[in-house]
Amino acid sequence: MVTKKVLLAHTGGTIGMRRGERGYAPSAGYLAELLARMPELSDPSLPSVELVEFAPLLDSADMVPSDWSRIAAEIARRHDEVDGVVVLHGTDTMAFTASALSFMLEGLAKPVIVTGSQVPLAELRSDARENLIASLQVAAMPGLHEVCVYFSGRLLRGNRVTKVSATGFDAFESPNEAPLATVGVDIALRQGAARPARPGRLAVRELRDVTVAAVRLFPGVSARFMAHVLQEPLEGLVLETYGAGNAPTRDPRLLAELAAAVARGVVVVNTTQCLRGRVDMRGYATGTALAEAGVTGGADMTPEAALTKLIYLLGSGMAPDEARAAMARDLRGELTE
Ligand code: ASP
Repeated sequence: MVTKKVLLAHTGGTIGMRRGERGYAPSAGYLAELLARMPELSDPSLPSVELVEFAPLLDSADMVPSDWSRIAAEIARRHDEVDGVVVLHGTDTMAFTASALSFMLEGLAKPVIVTGSQVPLAELRSDARENLIASLQVAAMPGLHEVCVYFSGRLLRGNRVTKVSATGFDAFESPNEAPLATVGVDIALRQGAARPARPGRLAVRELRDVTVAAVRLFPGVSARFMAHVLQEPLEGLVLETYGAGNAPTRDPRLLAELAAAVARGVVVVNTTQCLRGRVDMRGYATGTALAEAGVTGGADMTPEAALTKLIYLLGSGMAPDEARAAMARDLRGELTE
């Protein structure tokens, strides 16, 4: 039997953290020490593991888009030599990184499993060991060619996840899509759930820096506040609206600010604050007003997927109109058309 090989890319996060005076923090070389004390990693049913540690290791609250590019570049560099990749990452911004990687890794032919834990591997009672071992197994499975998050017994599409618990082991959900697999006695992919392999070779484009923002609407949000957010050099905005994509319309100046920004070339995308369901700007007059202002419907995308998709599209050099059309299209399973 040929042993499969998985690249374990450690970017930081609780899973490999050490407790210090100021709370948990990443610690270079520490994870390697802990892994060396896990005899189960040499079990023949597991792939062989090659650990790559990023420098500096980050609490994922500190991650920025150029860190996603570094992770994508490392995966691209090693893609042809391994059967799959596990990315160890903090849970706080895992949904953003998993979404970003799904867009950035064009032509991905192997599984990339992003995981982490709520409690460090070094602690006695932790979710780290199970998340790590199951992720390694999934990363060696055939038939997966996309970025997933594995957490607490569930394999989820990376660009569909959102962090739903700050303390529970079941920290992630993909509210608008059933898990790709539920891990019990066996790990079985849901029939037809995995995306088909795309032709071509893996490529990661260099993205230019783009200026984007996300605003969660709230009762009383003013036109002045919106005008401030929409100022140059903003290029893209994820609007987190009410319900099926509605916004306050009593003050026409707020909509006028949005319309002026859209006319100037800002790509404004409508996602819902609700965990489940989708944006449909034709349902209510308060939604139609946004469509009339030129806001693009984000369907059932998470705000995390919408933000990272904007960064990817605009960063790849797309013009605003092209980016608006692509935002409404399914590129990597992130939305239901
Ligand atoms: N603050 C940590 C991080 O995101 C939390 C975690 O990993 O669970 O890196």
